[in-house]
Amino acid sequence: MSTVATTDTYFDIKKIRTDFPILQQKVNGKPLVYFDNAATTQKPQQVIDAINKYYEGYNANIHRGLHSLAEKATTAFEETRLTFQKFINAAESEEVIFTKGTTDSINLVATAYGRKFIKASDEILISGMEHHSNIVPWQMLCEEKGAKLKVIPVDEKGEISLDDVKSLINKNTKIVSVVFASNSLGTVNPVKEIGQLAHKFGAVMMIDGAQAASHCKVDVQDLDCDFFATSGHKMYGPTGSGILYGKREILEKMNPYQGGGEMIKDVSFEKTTYNDIPYKFEAGTPNIADIVALKSAVEYINQLGKENIVQYENDITAHAHKRLAEVPGIHFYGTATNKVSVVSFTIDNVHPYDVGMMLDAKGIAVRTGHHCTQPLMDHYGIDGTIRASFSVYNTKEEIDFLADSLKDIVAKFS
Ligand code: PLP
Repeated sequence: MSTVATTDTYFDIKKIRTDFPILQQKVNGKPLVYFDNAATTQKPQQVIDAINKYYEGYNANIHRGLHSLAEKATTAFEETRLTFQKFINAAESEEVIFTKGTTDSINLVATAYGRKFIKASDEILISGMEHHSNIVPWQMLCEEKGAKLKVIPVDEKGEISLDDVKSLINKNTKIVSVVFASNSLGTVNPVKEIGQLAHKFGAVMMIDGAQAASHCKVDVQDLDCDFFATSGHKMYGPTGSGILYGKREILEKMNPYQGGGEMIKDVSFEKTTYNDIPYKFEAGTPNIADIVALKSAVEYINQLGKENIVQYENDITAHAHKRLAEVPGIHFYGTATNKVSVVSFTIDNVHPYDVGMMLDAKGIAVRTGHHCTQPLMDHYGIDGTIRASFSVYNTKEEIDFLADSLKDIVAKFS
């Protein structure tokens, strides 16, 4: 795959587009323009092939069997762990736990860390732009323990300020959990600096990296976070695969998440002892095929180069802001200086759902609604937005088509 930059592009977009078979189809008789990448990205042939190869060639349960297929499956599964360790620069592969995705990873921490260490009058700090999966698990924990959930406010640009974080953190704060890049606004938050403040008060820092893994440079040692969660399906990998990164010393102190096979060392009716990390948190047969294929997704990103991806996506996102600004009655939500490839907006006198339906008729897939961030929508006093979110296979021509289509829609409603 070519990663040669030209004046217009940072890689060979035509080649990239041929890697994604789903993009070759027509929707409603029109070529598919897929702008719902923040919900889930499409999968390159390399990832699809990896799933097929596993089922066709070496489907077997992992870690337990001594036979050749089991060994092959175990090796492939553990190779993904090593690949992911390098991808996020974790110090050790044992600090990478496989989960179903970000939601599962956050619930793991809320349960296995929270239930053990949080008590009444402790505080958990999140931000006002969190996805429901970084709100509800903490709310459930707070309800159970009598702890308090505090929220860092979001300003008009869709940013949070470190001064607000400073004024909300105190010695009662035990967990700070903030989204790296907002799925609704695109804002990239100063998670490293927030983590430094959390650590000053002895709290652990968790990063919701669902949107970050494919759009931002992630180095968990440099960020010095205690936990980092992400989802495979938002980074060209399969659904149902994800990871939780955790620092060894913290993971070792935590309770297991679920009980069952694989997470144990020894079981008797009197007493069970638990496996070492990461297996202590991986009870039962995992999603082997999809985790094996997740390695191909990481390799795909690595081949393109994170820096190229970030530059290319910044470039097309700036183009989108410029072109969409021409649409009469448009209002943007999330105008932070540092943002990923998400453009969220409303249009005067046209309901987001109507816009979504009319774009779909033209083959354009966008997301409309609250994007699982209802408190953020309440903050802006709206029900939802129209969200176009871009990936490496999107082009400026597609964005131009979106802008022109929106102008047509507005003309129909005026
Ligand atoms: N956090 C953010 C910022 C997200 O965008 C999402 C998904 O949209 C999630 C968490 C939840 O991810 P998943 O549904 O893959 O568990």
